[in-house]
Amino acid sequence: MALLDVQGLDVAYGDIHVIWDVDFSVDTGETVALLGANGAGKTTILKTICGVLSPLDGDVVYEGESITGIAPEEAVRRGIAHVPEGREIFADSTVKRNLQLGAYTNRGAMSENLQRVYEIFPRLEERAGQRAGTLSGGEQQMLAIGRGLMSEPDLLLLDEASLGLAPVLVDDVFEAIQRINDQGTTVFLVEQDIHNALRVADRGYVLKSGRIELSGSAEELAGDERVEASYLGE
Ligand code: ATP
Repeated sequence: MALLDVQGLDVAYGDIHVIWDVDFSVDTGETVALLGANGAGKTTILKTICGVLSPLDGDVVYEGESITGIAPEEAVRRGIAHVPEGREIFADSTVKRNLQLGAYTNRGAMSENLQRVYEIFPRLEERAGQRAGTLSGGEQQMLAIGRGLMSEPDLLLLDEASLGLAPVLVDDVFEAIQRINDQGTTVFLVEQDIHNALRVADRGYVLKSGRIELSGSAEELAGDERVEASYLGE
């Protein structure tokens, strides 16, 4: 069954219409990638799923119920965690405090969720008492993902988790995503890094200028030259 089913989505910023009639779905247990060039509208779609933006038209159905235009806190309560682009951690708070703040909806037990995050990202346990603003870029990204996991989500929405990281850290982040999915969390990720995204994903969609241009299994998309071309604006 589809955990998330998005139908006929149209989104605008004021008069600027950026998402056009977008359909896609994510099944329970899958990792699905949304690919596309800068400005294609990937972030806008994630923000619409988790209630940060309301669509002009269309429906966002989660666990069989419409959640279109839901308040972001309610989306978290229902099991959707959004890890935004740019991380948005609390720089002056400790690593542990940042993680605790991610548990504000009281889904699951705080100590168990914290333990699970530390298992996935041992580095965060080592640095639990450190001010988050002094973490390296890769560690901050781990913290942002870890904070999302503290609400014990069924669906994790990741926006450009690997952006700006050194290659070795990119590998760490994608390995962590794989582990999170192996442990039962469904993942929908937005990426510009086509190759890594298709390595961890089961399926993908390619967005071009606000419309879905292509979709298929990760294997099909990895072998389709139109995927790369859509990034180059061809
Ligand atoms: P990137 O990979 O660069 O983050 P993206 O695919 O995530 O790009 P979006 O951030 O969703 O793209 O942006 C889609 C379009 O909407 C872009 O043309 C962008 O300029 C526009 N846009 C985004 N936010 C706003 C806003 N607050 N007001 C007006 N236009 C916006």
